[in-house]
Amino acid sequence: MPELPEVEIITRDLRTRVVGRTIRRFRASWKRQIKPNITVVQRALQGATITQVTRRGKWIVFHLGGRNRSIGVLAVHLRMSGRILWESAADEEPEHLRAFWEFDGGGRLLFCDARKFGRIELIPTMNELDRRLGLEPLEPTFTVSALRALFSKSARKLKPLLLDQTLIAGLGNIYTDEALFRARLHPLERTDRLSDTAIRSLRRAIVHVLREAIQNNGTSFDEVYPGGRMQQSLRVYGHEGQPCRRCKTAIVYFRVAQRGTRICPRCQVPGVEPTSSISPQR
Ligand SMILES: [Zn+2]
Repeated sequence: MPELPEVEIITRDLRTRVVGRTIRRFRASWKRQIKPNITVVQRALQGATITQVTRRGKWIVFHLGGRNRSIGVLAVHLRMSGRILWESAADEEPEHLRAFWEFDGGGRLLFCDARKFGRIELIPTMNELDRRLGLEPLEPTFTVSALRALFSKSARKLKPLLLDQTLIAGLGNIYTDEALFRARLHPLERTDRLSDTAIRSLRRAIVHVLREAIQNNGTSFDEVYPGGRMQQSLRVYGHEGQPCRRCKTAIVYFRVAQRGTRICPRCQVPGVEPTSSISPQR
C-alpha cells in the first residue's frame, strides 16, 4: 500500500499535469468507491478547474475552483491497489479502470484499482479532512512535545498508535517498522512510558526515513507502484531471517495488531531505552 512518500511522489507528478486544467467530465464504473455519491461528484466536477494538488497523510487532494464558487476538495485514497495514471493517446485502456477525469483541451486521468478499496471523496472544505487526520510528520508541528502529548494520553502500544491515521497521518507498515528499527524501539513498547530521549529518537527516525524514501522515489511494490528505489535502503521490512546490519542477529517476523512486523530482537528490546547518540542513518 502506498504510504506518505509514495503518495507525495504521485502528488508532485499530478501537480505538473493537472493544475490549471478544467474538468470536462468525470465518470466512474464502480460507484461504491465514490462519496458522497456519483451524482453529486459528477455535478461538482463538471466544469471545475483544479487549482492545486496537495497531499494530506495518504490522501491526494485536488483543490477545485471555477464558476465563481468554491466546490470543496476532491480527496483520493489509493488504499491497497489504487493507481492514478495519465493517459497518453497511444496507450491501450489499462486493466481495472474504475473512474476517469476528462479535461478540456484533451487528456484523461485514469483511476485503476484491482481490489476496489480505493476511495474518491468530495469533501466540502480542507478543514473537514484535517479534522479526520492527525499530525503531518514532515510539517513543523511534528514536534517532540506534540508526540509526548499523543503518547501520554493513553497506555497504547507504540506501533498501533503510529499507524492510527487520526493521530499521525501518512505512516503505514513499511515506514513504521523502519522508523522503530532506526530508533531502536520495540513496536509493543507502551507509549506513556517513553522518555523524552526515546521520543526524540523516534521523531528523528520517522522524519529521516520518510525524507530518505521521498528522495528515493518511494518503495516499489509489484505493478501498483513501480519505479521506487527505497527498497534498497530498507533495514527490516522484507529482511526477515537476514542479519541485522548493526548486530548481525537475524531479523524476526511477528504480528502486531494483525500487521506483519519486523524487528531485530537484540536492537529493539522492550523496556530498553535507546541512547541519545544514535544516528538515524544506521
Ligand atoms: Zn540488531
